[in-house]
Amino acid sequence: MRKPIIAGNWKMHKTMEEAVDFTEKVKGMVPSSAQVETVICAPFLFLDRLVNDVKRYNVKVGAQTMHYEEQGAYTGEVSPAALKGIGVSHVILGHSERRELYNETDEAVNKKVLSAFQYGLTPIVCVGETLEQWENGETNEHVKSQVTKALQGLSEDQVKSLVIAYEPIWAIGTGKSSTADGAEEVCGHIRQVIESNFSKGAADAVRIQYGGSVKPENIREFMNCPNIDGALVGGASLDPDSFLKLLEAS
Ligand code: 13P
Repeated sequence: MRKPIIAGNWKMHKTMEEAVDFTEKVKGMVPSSAQVETVICAPFLFLDRLVNDVKRYNVKVGAQTMHYEEQGAYTGEVSPAALKGIGVSHVILGHSERRELYNETDEAVNKKVLSAFQYGLTPIVCVGETLEQWENGETNEHVKSQVTKALQGLSEDQVKSLVIAYEPIWAIGTGKSSTADGAEEVCGHIRQVIESNFSKGAADAVRIQYGGSVKPENIREFMNCPNIDGALVGGASLDPDSFLKLLEAS
């Protein structure tokens, strides 16, 4: 049985004060770790404080990107060693906004995934197609390529422990989510790609989230799909009540 994983991706939202207020409201109310794995992926600046604030609760703290090198002359970047050092457990890698706005390539995503494992961080690897690719029926082919490149060089055990987030770009922040059937089909396809690239054991163990306009009102449809193990949520993860509703519904 794969444990559901709900992750909030705050993107570039909130001040420190708002971030602390959020975790104060949420931390005592989250379901037990036996039911759901809960992750908040916050801006770098808040991570240290949040890790300390939630440490006795079923809430893990993740970053939204990182560099693949341990250290060096990379102005403005944050290293995996620095994240691990403050107790961050997860890191979103290859989010479509990073790929689009900051030219993150499949090759860079792969380096980051390998590096995350080296430092004991769990990657949440994002893949997903553009509206044009979706309309042209190229989704499966595109997602297969992204998954294959991102996970190149990983061991079977590493694949088993990571998280893949399928986020169709046209569904992100648009209010227009994929249908549950559509998302289930692509997530099933991703599982097949993992099976052919690694093993049946890896395919059965890897957790796959859906992301893109997930809300308390629609999360259940996705969670009921056999190949969907959780959600990566942007907008609806920002409000404490809404985030708790997402966790309850999963
Ligand atoms: P929304 O939930 O706001 O559509 O964002 C999805 C997303 O990009 C999460 O990483």
